[in-house]
Amino acid sequence: MPSSPSTADRPRSDLLVMFGASGDLAKKKLFPAVYRLEKRGLLGIPVIGVALDDWTTADLVEHARAAIVEEGEEWDQAAFDRLAANMTYVSGNYAEPATFEKLKAAAGATQHPVFHFAIPPSMFATVAEGIAGVGLDQGARLIIEKPFGRDHDSAVELNATLHEHFAESAIFRIDHFVGKEALRSLLVSRFANAITEPLWNRNLVSSVKITMAESFGVEDRGAFYDSVGAMRDVMQNHLLQMVALLAMEQPVNESAKALRDEKGKVLEACRVVDPEHYVRGQYDGYLAVPGVKAGSDTETYGAFLLHIDSPRWSGVPFFLRAGKAMAQTVTEMTIEFKRPPRPLWIPEHSHLPHNSMRIEVKPDSFDAMTLLRKTPGEGMMPEAITVAPPPDMRADGGPEPYELLIEEAMKGDPTLFAREDTVLESWRIVERILTEYSPVEPYAQGSWGPAGASALTRRTGGWPEEPPGGPV
Ligand code: NDP
Repeated sequence: MPSSPSTADRPRSDLLVMFGASGDLAKKKLFPAVYRLEKRGLLGIPVIGVALDDWTTADLVEHARAAIVEEGEEWDQAAFDRLAANMTYVSGNYAEPATFEKLKAAAGATQHPVFHFAIPPSMFATVAEGIAGVGLDQGARLIIEKPFGRDHDSAVELNATLHEHFAESAIFRIDHFVGKEALRSLLVSRFANAITEPLWNRNLVSSVKITMAESFGVEDRGAFYDSVGAMRDVMQNHLLQMVALLAMEQPVNESAKALRDEKGKVLEACRVVDPEHYVRGQYDGYLAVPGVKAGSDTETYGAFLLHIDSPRWSGVPFFLRAGKAMAQTVTEMTIEFKRPPRPLWIPEHSHLPHNSMRIEVKPDSFDAMTLLRKTPGEGMMPEAITVAPPPDMRADGGPEPYELLIEEAMKGDPTLFAREDTVLESWRIVERILTEYSPVEPYAQGSWGPAGASALTRRTGGWPEEPPGGPV
């Protein structure tokens, strides 16, 4: 993504500090991302890993090597050697000021460090204060992981703590979904095609359905997941960011401000979700996951109906669902269009699909359109066909989201990061359903979630790809 004009002259970061270097995110995403950046010649700065473990720098390098190999990255010894030579490990507890003194000594003469908070969200404020306590806040940038707060009020409080030491322009609230190829591509395809825009509104769209399904469970992250659940883990952030990108008006220009203004307006126009339209589920076997509290009522599945009171979307239901241990791993957005006013040759009560557009975000990245045509042959019966790029053109060939977003933060370009107001609006939208909800409904692993979620979309034709008759 090119730097927006207002940020092109910002200094590039000269040090990357990875808090949480021994954690899951660092292992799966951050080490592979910095390695890819180094391979492309875009890193070339010192990298300090910080964590509790009593490691040496050699241990950190070995941990990074194993993580990169495990993620299946194509090996480039020279690039890894350059990265390894730039790495330093600092061990310590974030609750202790001595940790930040050690960090300051390791940081040397940095002018513009970038600090990645790959740590439990409960530690964000403590670490920001620790950085400021040793004067490393000067010229610095923060990459803050999600969830940003636990609700609206705690997010306000966290913003206030961060703003005591860091300007809003120094805070990069990361949501790696926004860095995904399919979502960046949506910005281009929506506004570059004159034929798309006239379709994209309440006149022609009957509903929008967004799914983030994972075929795996919480695995070894039971303690972390049990304290957040699907709503805080992915719905308040990833799914609402997807809504904002799909539903926003065209930004007035390509600047970070213009894009973030439009995203903010969509979220501001969303109604607070009614608890009557919220379904929670928990997969069978979740309670046996190590780290999960006995009798936990944490949701591993959530689905809700969202209304956007804007001139473009008023009256169009948006259905959002996210779940673990589901039938498939797939993230997608389906835009369903209204039926024509007087369809010819379509029998009454026919189950032919509506026209729809499907944007697959994961595992592949492509758009597909479902159209109706006459079934070839004597009769006039219509059939549905899907127009989509061939399989070899569907792969997500762009940089990995973390690779792209770390690079953007190092350049100081906030375009793809969540601004303070959008995070607060997201919490406002879900604020009632964070506390007013029914007990979780059980669902079988490998299914499409609890029965209640099917009821939510029944009048609009069900969830996409759901087997007939509801969940299996
Ligand atoms: P982990 O629990 O795996 O890692 C947390 C890290 O913080 C570990 O390095 C841990 O060190 C360290 N840590 C915790 N407490 C302290 C402390 N008091 N002092 C020093 N170090 C401490 O979490 P994840 O990596 O899974 O998640 C980190 C963040 O990233 C969260 O905000 C999460 O929401 C976000 N995220 C995670 C994703 C993932 O796939 N894992 C995806 C997207 C976002 P130690 O190991 O020594 O305890």
